[in-house]
Amino acid sequence: MDVGFIGLGRMGGPMARNLVKAGHRVRAWNRSPVAGELADGMDLVATPAEALQAEAAFTMLADDAAIREVLLSSGALQSARPGLVHAVASTISVGFAGELRARHAEAGLGYVSAPVLGRPDAAEAAQLAVMVAGEKDAVAKVCPLLDAIGRRTWVLGEDPGQANAAKIAANMMLAMAIEALAEAVVLTGGYGLAPEAFFDLILGTLFGCSAYSIYSTKIASGDFEPGFAMNLGLKDLRLAAAASEKTGRRLPMLDALRGRMAEAVAAGLGDKDWSAIADYARQA
Ligand code: NAP
Repeated sequence: MDVGFIGLGRMGGPMARNLVKAGHRVRAWNRSPVAGELADGMDLVATPAEALQAEAAFTMLADDAAIREVLLSSGALQSARPGLVHAVASTISVGFAGELRARHAEAGLGYVSAPVLGRPDAAEAAQLAVMVAGEKDAVAKVCPLLDAIGRRTWVLGEDPGQANAAKIAANMMLAMAIEALAEAVVLTGGYGLAPEAFFDLILGTLFGCSAYSIYSTKIASGDFEPGFAMNLGLKDLRLAAAASEKTGRRLPMLDALRGRMAEAVAAGLGDKDWSAIADYARQA
């Protein structure tokens, strides 16, 4: 298929490369120049509007504001190829997904939300877990493309915001898992236990799942080079708070963790991996 791709960052780059590997023609745009080998096989185009001259397109920009600037304020969406189906894979707010759905409908375009679970290594290996929601025909058109970037796609409903709500909730749970590991290390460390010994115990007993496994390894190594930057993690906790407020519900653990991550970002950890919240807990 002729596919557009907007945003070749840590996640978007490997996702676009996997579409090329699967035999699709990819016309890609990124704000900053991209090294040739990272865009191997793609047609790099000069504007976002050119990337939308395709049958389907992905956007993997950082957040709501970037997408608003690049696609809505610029007028790029209005000049998209008729019949285009646009899949936004970024983690965005439920409210903005509703606005995107309406703006695409006005322009006669299809829209689906298709956020992903998995870090850049999973994106590289085409092993992302993909959630998708949107009108049935639009979802059916992009499903073969989602197969090229992920290990499985979960179709969650016809309202695009349902996929964003699921993604935001999953990231909230991940952040809570990281904080749980961090606080457990603080507690056990107070009694002279090495993190590795404690992690070996919990992974071999009650908590042997990938969330605890991936993040205990990062915490034990002390390597907080970003796969997922804490600035983006804080953005997602804010999205979770906004999404729950909209339904009139308060989530107390989320409130506490959001405050803590905001402090860690203010202390200068925003460009580190979000698991550096564990270092923050240790030093506090
Ligand atoms: P990233 O490496 O920081 O890439 C962000 C992308 O957005 C880059 O292409 C960047 O362009 C572009 N961008 C940001 N602001 C822009 C603006 N105002 N105008 C134009 N382009 C702009 O981030 P990432 O880790 O790939 O994350 C991308 C999205 O995926 C986020 O919504 C994130 O929450 C979500 N996500 C991330 C992970 C993960 O583990 N990293 C996992 C699942 C979902 P430049 O190259 O020019 O800066």
